[in-house]
Amino acid sequence: MDGTNKNMVILGAGESGVGAAILAVQKGWSVFVSDMSNIKAEFQDALNELGVKWEQGQHTLEKILQAELIIKSPGIPEKAPVMKAIRAKGIKVVSEIEFGGYYSTGKTICITGSNGKTTTTLLTHHILKKAGLDVGLAGNVGYSFAKQVAEGDHDWYVIELSSFQLDDMYDFHANIAVLMNITPDHLDRYEYQMQQYVDSKFRILQNQTTQDWFIYNADDPLISAEMKKRKPSVNLAPFSLKEVQNPGGYADDKQLIIHINQQFAMSIHELALKGKHNTQNALAAGIAARLVEIRKDIVRESLEDFTNVEHRLEFVAKVNGIEFINDSKATNINSAWFALESMEKPTVWIVGGVDKGNDYSELTDLVREKVKAIVCLGEDNQKIIDAFSDVVEIIVEAKSAMEAVAFGYRLAQKEETVLLSPACASFDLFENYEDRGNQFKQAVRML
Ligand code: ADP
Repeated sequence: MDGTNKNMVILGAGESGVGAAILAVQKGWSVFVSDMSNIKAEFQDALNELGVKWEQGQHTLEKILQAELIIKSPGIPEKAPVMKAIRAKGIKVVSEIEFGGYYSTGKTICITGSNGKTTTTLLTHHILKKAGLDVGLAGNVGYSFAKQVAEGDHDWYVIELSSFQLDDMYDFHANIAVLMNITPDHLDRYEYQMQQYVDSKFRILQNQTTQDWFIYNADDPLISAEMKKRKPSVNLAPFSLKEVQNPGGYADDKQLIIHINQQFAMSIHELALKGKHNTQNALAAGIAARLVEIRKDIVRESLEDFTNVEHRLEFVAKVNGIEFINDSKATNINSAWFALESMEKPTVWIVGGVDKGNDYSELTDLVREKVKAIVCLGEDNQKIIDAFSDVVEIIVEAKSAMEAVAFGYRLAQKEETVLLSPACASFDLFENYEDRGNQFKQAVRML
């Protein structure tokens, strides 16, 4: 797509917006960048270096509405006034990934789902890299796809896609699509209609052909129901913890088995990442790698030596025999469910924040079984208190990570665990989930 003499507007000057600007300038587009917030100094410098005009703290509509193509940061909701004006004028809006796809010849493994996206993306990238492939890591995980395309393109990309990115994708083609699970999340952006969110996730299949593969979680009831409805004409490689899948993958409490080409098997005790949810992530990554024909010994070695990402069931420290775990990235019920499920010792659970429409009753049984005390860490904790006051004897409220850790330390005993797995977003008391996790870790280290 030749951009010469064509106006492009990029909304949002973060990693993906600036990456899109780099590619757009290279392809001849006339670019204007607009961000409602302040643009980070490093990104301002990058835009200046490119010779791109930009604004911050405002959206100047008369400039924006001159665009032929708009690249939108996934963080900007449709209900924002700037989006309403753009839609009213009918200007084409795409995500940075869609735009990168116009110019890339690389093959793609695209990973979406409500939970496990980042872990599975990093794991898949780790295997392909170890096998010596020329592979880029991109998308929601924090690296711009467009920028990598501009800097020389790769043979392969492993791309993490959120539903917001998928919403602005139309022609993009995933050679291998992966759908980890679908549980309620971000419903505030989908008019509280679960089907809209499900449809958004299934956009990962659009443009796939009979040459392509779809890896999905066969145990997920919502995905199974959709598959029956849609019957996509792509090659299917499901994974399951309940039934053997061939082609596909299966794991019980001893072994992980993948049937793609030949059979691949390894002990689940050798997996670097523990817990059932991580076994699902390893299955998805392992299937993708075997579809790319990575050798079995490399897949095995990579699944064994992968190091976990921060803020995801991250072991922080043991203080006087009490183990502290940081799972700050657990921002919805399903991820907290898996965290609680993997707890092996009596647990003090730190939970709370900004609730995106949580139904806590899904956790009642697990909480009854695993949790000895709850520390609420949010501005408004009433919903949590109401949900668990009949289930757990001790519920206290904290207003900072420091206070929450102090409560945890007091309430837990030797050989017990303090788990931060909030099931909520963090914006009431913290900047973001990283900030929440970092403050938690710092407080633990100060004990
Ligand atoms: P995402 O990128 O989709 O948010 P992450 O890999 O960052 O996923 O993990 C987010 C949270 O979900 C963490 O708390 C993690 O422990 C949990 N989690 C990871 N994988 C899964 C999975 N397959 N199913 C459910 N929860 C998971």
